[in-house]
Amino acid sequence: MMKQGLLFLSESHMARAVVTHAPFARWAARRFVAGEEIGDAIAAARELNAQGMTVSLDYLGESVSSREEATAAADTYIRIIDTMVAEGIDGNVSLKLTQMGQDIDEEFLDTNVRRVLDRAKHHGMFVRFDMESSDYVQKTLDFFERVREEGYDNCGVVLQSYLYRTHDDAKWASDRRAGVRLCKGAYAEPESVAFPNKADVDANYVRVMKLLLERGTYPGIATHDEAMIEATKAFARERGIDPSRFEFQMLYGIRRDLQKQIVDEGWRLRIYIGFGKAWYPYFMRRLAERPANVMFLASNVFREAFR
Ligand SMILES: Cc1cc2nc3c(=O)[nH]c(=O)nc-3n(C[C@H](O)[C@H](O)[C@H](O)COP(=O)(O)OP(=O)(O)OC[C@H]3O[C@@H](n4cnc5c(N)ncnc54)[C@H](O)[C@@H]3O)c2cc1C
Repeated sequence: MMKQGLLFLSESHMARAVVTHAPFARWAARRFVAGEEIGDAIAAARELNAQGMTVSLDYLGESVSSREEATAAADTYIRIIDTMVAEGIDGNVSLKLTQMGQDIDEEFLDTNVRRVLDRAKHHGMFVRFDMESSDYVQKTLDFFERVREEGYDNCGVVLQSYLYRTHDDAKWASDRRAGVRLCKGAYAEPESVAFPNKADVDANYVRVMKLLLERGTYPGIATHDEAMIEATKAFARERGIDPSRFEFQMLYGIRRDLQKQIVDEGWRLRIYIGFGKAWYPYFMRRLAERPANVMFLASNVFREAFR
């Protein structure tokens, strides 16, 4: 219930205005967001690299409706890639197609994403297309297939275990040797497309994880759920799958204890670092995943807003 409410608020302009101006919320968001500037993300990445973790940098932004904003986002990604290379950061980038103009027009989207893919390819860097709400899944997979056919082999997709379709999509991706990040899914989805119960989402996660580990191309197992992580380790050991054939992925600032443990045990781990001024929807989705801190945050935000 609270989860659905937070996901609803993540798309509300009014709530965005209140929360983004509340100093306490800005402070709280810093737990999940590395900062607002490229330099902040690079500093966080350098620290994580020193701890044996690779990174994926995400310049936060989504549902962009102006051409200027989408073009500027692509420019920023190009700057991020160049800066990562210049600073010797071991990592790649993740982007959302709606930030690059997916809601504007297909040709415009193509131009923006290709600019980013070209620059990344020039440096031998990988680009992950994040997955957004279910309305975008087919469009995102179609877009991915098109750019792959054009020769961009430096990109991959994300699949979400809460969707009924995901096991089939994982087979589709494996047949194309596509790199997949597997996550549970972070959006409010109707029962017509997604499992309503957590137990089913988790069971599907394990089922798809096994398929990707056996048949996929360097999958990213993205979760903070110890049960999912243990199931992955156990399956890899049982099938003799070498730890170099996949990686775990986690979000910046979440379960740092578990992040360290995974690396200490010799598994590969990539940390997804979100940064930028458009942190509000990303932050709200992180709150929705863990309602425990929400009452604390809400009472402080509204105290600040109305004092
Ligand atoms: C690297 C990465 C990339 C992702 N990319 C996408 C994407 O492209 N599209 C998409 O829809 N979703 C994406 N997600 C989000 C994902 O779908 C889930 O919403 C999120 O990871 C929470 O699910 P979980 O697997 O950690 O399991 P859960 O069952 O939600 O959580 C398991 C445990 O992890 C801890 N935990 C989880 N979330 C939090 C939090 N916010 N704060 C504190 N503790 C927490 C808690 O201890 C919790 O009990 C991504 C996640 C990761 C790790």
